[in-house]
Amino acid sequence: MTRTAVITGSTSGIGLAIAKAFAKTGANIVLNGFGKPDEIRSVTDEVAGLTSGAVLHHPADMTRPDEIADLMATAASRFGGTDILVNNAGVQFVEKIEDFPVEDWDRIIAINLSSSFHTIRAAVPAMKRKGWGRIINIASAHGLVASPFKSAYVAAKHGIMGLTKTVALEVAENGITVNSICPGYVLTPLVEKQIPDQARTRGITEEQVINEVMLKGQPTKKFITVEQVASLALYIASDDAAQITGTHVSIDGGWTAQ
Ligand code: NAD
Repeated sequence: MTRTAVITGSTSGIGLAIAKAFAKTGANIVLNGFGKPDEIRSVTDEVAGLTSGAVLHHPADMTRPDEIADLMATAASRFGGTDILVNNAGVQFVEKIEDFPVEDWDRIIAINLSSSFHTIRAAVPAMKRKGWGRIINIASAHGLVASPFKSAYVAAKHGIMGLTKTVALEVAENGITVNSICPGYVLTPLVEKQIPDQARTRGITEEQVINEVMLKGQPTKKFITVEQVASLALYIASDDAAQITGTHVSIDGGWTAQ
């Protein structure tokens, strides 16, 4: 049976790696996320080359409930529903609380938390009918611990942990599992680009940026790779993981052990 995976924010980084990993299992893939038309075309073609299933890109903006509804309706009309839902789209903004712009608070809560409510509520009825489903929320080490100046991000990621547990209890008898993945610092293109920039602005070497700034709180002193996160998502979606639900799996190089 061909499964259908919907991965939000999958035109880059962790989401794209997860999309590729599910594509290699032969799943239909619904991509989502921003990018220039030619970039989106090339990502869609690349993922399509990995699967015997079908691949489409839906441009829903995760701040817009109506567009999210259309994304989920498209997965339902094209493929008969979403079997594997990966809520991955996420953004960051760093500012002290008294200066945190209200519009950035609202935007981060919408993308990093509320969008998952909208996708999950749309996906669950078909999962219940099939008696099988996997919902994977890409949270963060910041779903478990805080860092200063990231109030909206940390609040949203803690919120997704609560949503994960609540929905898991509601659908526990329906063959549907709901879990969060909590990565530490993952080497995505976005992070890679920041290394030379930070080295320049701070007047330190790229190695110092990595070890003394970025990986200061990550005991292994190594970035997590997007492939490692994707492989964890594949496991959580497997039948072997049927009894893992309502919880989180950390992949953070020891960050939250401290
Ligand atoms: P990224 O910036 O590489 O990718 C984010 C994706 O989300 C892109 O495809 C982008 O187009 C999409 N996106 C952004 N705003 C959107 C919107 N309004 N509507 C639809 N799509 C939108 O980021 P990433 O590092 O791969 O992060 C992916 C997820 O992993 C996020 O939820 C992030 O919080 C989480 N995470 C990342 C790290 C890390 O170190 N990179 C660590 C922990 C958790």
